[in-house]
Amino acid sequence: LTFAIFSANCFLLELGMTELSSQALCVEDLHKSFGSHQVLKGVSTTANRGDVISIIGSSGSGKSTFLRCINLLEMPDRGRIVVNGEEVDLRRGRQGQMQPKSWRQIERIRSGLGMVFQSFNLWAHMTVLENIIEAPVHVLGIPRGEAIDKAQALLGKVGLYDKRDAYPAFLSGGQQQRAAIARALCIDPAVMLFDEPTSALDPELVGEVLKVIRDLADEGRTMLLVTHEMRFARDVSNHVLFLHQGRIEEEGPPAQVFDAPLSARCREFTGLLP
Ligand code: ADP
Ligand code: MG
Repeated sequence: LTFAIFSANCFLLELGMTELSSQALCVEDLHKSFGSHQVLKGVSTTANRGDVISIIGSSGSGKSTFLRCINLLEMPDRGRIVVNGEEVDLRRGRQGQMQPKSWRQIERIRSGLGMVFQSFNLWAHMTVLENIIEAPVHVLGIPRGEAIDKAQALLGKVGLYDKRDAYPAFLSGGQQQRAAIARALCIDPAVMLFDEPTSALDPELVGEVLKVIRDLADEGRTMLLVTHEMRFARDVSNHVLFLHQGRIEEEGPPAQVFDAPLSARCREFTGLLP
């Protein structure tokens, strides 16, 4: 009997380990309201390692709020978030709002996620290189020399090595966004979160940023990508979520969501005839 219990335990442990190693991110039943406005009404998704999940939907459908809840820039009201095998511990505060049990855990969760914003959000008073090493050195405690080596390698990868000592104001939008991507990568995140990374760019600069994102997909990075670049989303992702009024209205492989959606709203959004 002891042996049976022992093997059963090992089996469960193994199951647990498998889940840990294949799942980069798991979100279950996420709810978020601002005042009486219910923005997310129970959104769930799982990203296994190497998945590229595109999130599409009209403005106001909750796409940004979804990403912001995942990295806890907004506190969800309800739901479960597991990053890299670690579940976020939230509890209800005195006024009923959710708050983290430990800020140290929030830091750990965030260092598993690389966020890229529509508006780049580089620090204007720091050079490109300083922007990139800021979090690795000051949050993760990586030695400065090591962080610089890594940052320079990443700058090479996004084609910005020669701009490492430039200030953001002297870069084009496309260069700033590529620097922001290098910054997000420098903490070795398990998942990259992109929130409309090309929406603020002049059309002629979109391609250079999409190319960097495509390279990341090709090398097997796990990513959630909010975008209005439908053709790109169809090419680069293996799963697509169509959000409508805070719910997943349709999801599936790109061939389904873009070419043969089940939902009439999704057909309308992707421009297919009803
Ligand atoms: P999307 O990214 O799909 O355009 P958002 O997640 O930004 O949508 O916003 C969804 C809804 O939530 C919108 O109606 C927006 O006005 C509202 N919202 C987002 N953030 C806040 C906030 N901090 N306070 C109040 N309302 C917000
Ligand atoms: Mg948005």
